[in-house]
Amino acid sequence: MDWIPIKKSLENYSVEPNLLDYEETHRTFSWSLVVEELQGSSQAQGLNIANIAVDRHAEGVKANHVAMRFIAPDWTVRDFTYSNLKAQTNRFANVLLHLGIVKGDRTFVLAGRIPSLYIAALGTLKNGSVFCPLFSAFGPEPVFQRLDRGDAKVLVTTTSLYKQKVAQLRERLPKLQQILLIDAEEDMGEGLLSLPKLMVEASEEFATVPTEAEDMALLHFTSGTTGMPKGAIHVHKAVYAHYITAKYVLDLHSNDIFWCTADPGWVTGTSYGIIAPLTHGVTSIIDEAEFDANRWYQILETQKVNVWYTAPTAIRRLMRIDIEPRKHYDLSQLRLVHSVGEPLNPEAVIWGQEKLGLPIHDNWWQTETGGIMIANYPTMDIRPGSMGRPLPGIEAAIVRRHEDGTVEVIDKPGVDGDLALKPGFPSLFRGYLHEEERYCKCFVGDWYISGDLAARDADGYFWFVGREDDIIKTSGHMVGPFEVENALMEHPAVAEAGVIGKPNPMIGELVKAFVSLKPGRQPSEGLKLELIGFARQKLGAAIAPKEIEFQDNLPKTRSGKIMRRLLKARELGLPEGDLSTLETN
Ligand code: ATP
Ligand code: MG
Repeated sequence: MDWIPIKKSLENYSVEPNLLDYEETHRTFSWSLVVEELQGSSQAQGLNIANIAVDRHAEGVKANHVAMRFIAPDWTVRDFTYSNLKAQTNRFANVLLHLGIVKGDRTFVLAGRIPSLYIAALGTLKNGSVFCPLFSAFGPEPVFQRLDRGDAKVLVTTTSLYKQKVAQLRERLPKLQQILLIDAEEDMGEGLLSLPKLMVEASEEFATVPTEAEDMALLHFTSGTTGMPKGAIHVHKAVYAHYITAKYVLDLHSNDIFWCTADPGWVTGTSYGIIAPLTHGVTSIIDEAEFDANRWYQILETQKVNVWYTAPTAIRRLMRIDIEPRKHYDLSQLRLVHSVGEPLNPEAVIWGQEKLGLPIHDNWWQTETGGIMIANYPTMDIRPGSMGRPLPGIEAAIVRRHEDGTVEVIDKPGVDGDLALKPGFPSLFRGYLHEEERYCKCFVGDWYISGDLAARDADGYFWFVGREDDIIKTSGHMVGPFEVENALMEHPAVAEAGVIGKPNPMIGELVKAFVSLKPGRQPSEGLKLELIGFARQKLGAAIAPKEIEFQDNLPKTRSGKIMRRLLKARELGLPEGDLSTLETN
């Protein structure tokens, strides 16, 4: 927990932050106040995410405000106002209704970040059915696994994705009744329908199917970083968490332009790429193209993005290339930058401060928690390397599990343990689909055990140590890979590092680091020794890596997380396990 804080100053902050007094808000927070704020007197009429996100604004002063702006790869821009979005999502809900898709049925979408995906997501919710996104770069087998395990009844996709990935699976998916093709002018056979045709025929009027707070709304598969992806179930009530986290952490204000770079195939891309910004009536930017540093800076500049939510993997890619963003781009509108998905190295926070003029705000959460749980806030000093402090309404603790099934809360600062959350907040998952036992195992005593290890400092900031599965036991020490990776990242030659424990008869496990180098740096024995020496100086000999191997690209999930389990399996010649989410290019 070595840190030099980045002191907060609101001098250049163009709005009044929503969360002015963290301690006070924490103390007085209650979820019923959020319900009141969002729904007022209409609470008795049930709850539907899409109504809160879209219709509430379409029927008010925001009707003609741009809700979503899509930027196509060729830079063509398509805008949808809240009113357009209401009409389109109503049409889609009618399409499902006419096809006999009812409350609780699962609608999957396999598509890039194009308008139809977003319309289908929100229209599905209006119809009372369950939205389940699939990342468009999945191969046929991962698509099959999820459609099958998720009991898909409808799939929305494009003709080419259908031909490449789904056509050969249909016989194995007897429950899949309808496939709606986003770009087909005409129907293409039984159960293979033209979505544009159905949309034209459908009415723009739709009375949202009554859903209750506890009705299933979203099914999200986890990233598969540690093993086979799990299908996490979320309910309509999760919207309260989407809303309040976007208020306090993202600090959204009514006229903001917000850009979440995540694909809806991952939970961040749905919770914060679709739902949360709409609940605040802001304009969301959606880039249909893939990562490109210059393109991204150009989007920040030309769209005048105020709040930007991205991931460590993207930030490390920006850090790797030699662009001085503030020299070449006007980023004066940018107010806040956030990151989630993986540990954010202190180097990256500081890079933000130096190169973007803004520190990067790390936050922590999981598919299972549905929304941000621990975060850095605009009004709070940042301790680079820390995930920040729990949201108002969220009780987080470091705990130790005992063999007798009891859980002890560790009050002492600086001690590693399980990062646990007190259940009872609205966006906590309600199950792993068809895996009841696995779900039950996550709850011990009064706590939800996240599977991550962390420590808390004396001021209540949480520090990530590692995933339970990745912790290395070496010479009597428990070493979190993050600590070692951070130390290596401080070396000017290192672009990225992934650290594992390799069984060793003398010391239990030996710390081994896989390192990718910055452009222009060449691997050599000399550099290996230099890196080992560099890490020793920072970490001490017991924790520093004893072996280093250079790799051009570390294996990552498609959502950009380093797959340490795969580095380890390959190192040890063990089976590689589920690779459905492995990035292959
Ligand atoms: P699987 O559960 O299938 O192995 P996954 O855990 O990577 O995949 P997600 O739910 O997408 O799937 O990711 C959540 C995990 O990502 C967290 O449990 C944590 O390990 C990591 N993570 C997310 N944000 C942060 C952060 N700010 N700092 C450190 N780790 C983070
Ligand atoms: Mg997980």
